[in-house]
Amino acid sequence: MNLEKLEKIFESEKPFRLKQAKQAIFRDLIEVWDEATTLPLVLREQLKKEVPLSIEAEISTSADGKTSKALICLEDKEELEAVLMRHDGRNTVCVSSQVGCPLGCVFCATGQMGFIRDLTAGEIVAQVLFWARWLKKNPPSHSEGEARPLRLVEGEARRISRSFPPRLALLVDARPGAIAQDDKKEKQNDKNSVNVNRVNNVVFMGMGEPFLNYDNVFEAIKILNDDNLLGIGARHISISTVGIIEGIERMALDMPQINLAISLHAPDDALRQKLMPIDKKYPLEAIIAVAKDYVAKTNRKLMFEYIMIRGVNDSQEQARQLVNLLDDRLFFVNLIAYNPTGGLAPLQNLQNNHDEAKESKKDFAMGLEPSLPAQIKKFKDILEKSGIQALQRYRFGQDVRGACGQLASSRKVAKVMNGDN
Ligand code: SAH
Ligand code: SF4
Repeated sequence: MNLEKLEKIFESEKPFRLKQAKQAIFRDLIEVWDEATTLPLVLREQLKKEVPLSIEAEISTSADGKTSKALICLEDKEELEAVLMRHDGRNTVCVSSQVGCPLGCVFCATGQMGFIRDLTAGEIVAQVLFWARWLKKNPPSHSEGEARPLRLVEGEARRISRSFPPRLALLVDARPGAIAQDDKKEKQNDKNSVNVNRVNNVVFMGMGEPFLNYDNVFEAIKILNDDNLLGIGARHISISTVGIIEGIERMALDMPQINLAISLHAPDDALRQKLMPIDKKYPLEAIIAVAKDYVAKTNRKLMFEYIMIRGVNDSQEQARQLVNLLDDRLFFVNLIAYNPTGGLAPLQNLQNNHDEAKESKKDFAMGLEPSLPAQIKKFKDILEKSGIQALQRYRFGQDVRGACGQLASSRKVAKVMNGDN
């Protein structure tokens, strides 16, 4: 969706025309310009040619039908992934903010793929639009069962090549607002929670670091949140960041109602630097300081994501270190078992480094594995006994390799065209 082109075309029209066009796209979910009957015919003809509404994607779905991944093909032929998770009658879309990511976290498949480019606001919104159209066309009986392609162009099983940070599982319901004090109030007038045929939540936990593409992410959120457009409540939108300080500061001012999650993954800088090179620029002390500032300014709960990697960051001692670090009543922790499809490439590279490899269990040359459930439980107990709220999320669809990034193997992939321009 090329929003810049759309806006350019409407520069010479009366201002209300652009509003009509945007409403047709994002509220009425039209897929062909002919349906935008409020617009004059000549304009529709021009739009057909210059701003096609089609979104082309390959869909793959987990065996339990709860998780579907769309590999969306962009105008320049780059590809990105947007995942739909259906859980307890709610539909959560996990969107990407960049193609690839420059930050190179060792456990993350996107990080290992490197950085290709930022996504435009239109490309970010198109990921939600794709699934919004899809849900509209798939009545509840379908959407509760196995996800179905809209139009089958290519039916055979095929492997999607690009990998996606496999994660959040689970974050389906882990938005900070889910346990926020004001959540009750939110639920009472929550127009999103009842409709199983629409997108209820959006999480920026796909490919890329949202705060390295702040302006476009902010622009996209305005469209997602606008009542006259996609109408997704601010408290149903979450951004996950590695802890880009400037981004957190801007977010507290620009969009305080959006949920914030910070990827922590280690209780000390030495380990965090090994896992996430960006820690050198934004160390824990600075992140905790800005996080405290954020909750003081917004009075919002703040989620820290902590992926549990066996023998690396999951000891009881590390849980105690984490307790000391997170001393704010509005902080809470989401523990997520590491998804081993993450960063295998760097592990192999590290294997050449024999001295370091022998040094400690923390050496990634050993390979990264998810923590054992009993270990996660002990870790969680320590946090909770110290008064820190902790959630434990399992990988959604784990049993069927349905977590993001693992969807493609052994199941149907169908090429779907959303819109027909
Ligand atoms: N760049 C942002 C948002 C995208 S990543 C960030 O890093 O926060 C979203 C979440 O998925 C992050 O918490 C990230 O650490 C996590 N993640 C990445 N690879 C993972 C893996 N292999 N297993 C589990 N979580 C993973
Ligand atoms: Fe980028 Fe997030 Fe992956 Fe790190 S975890 S490489 S910041 S997408």
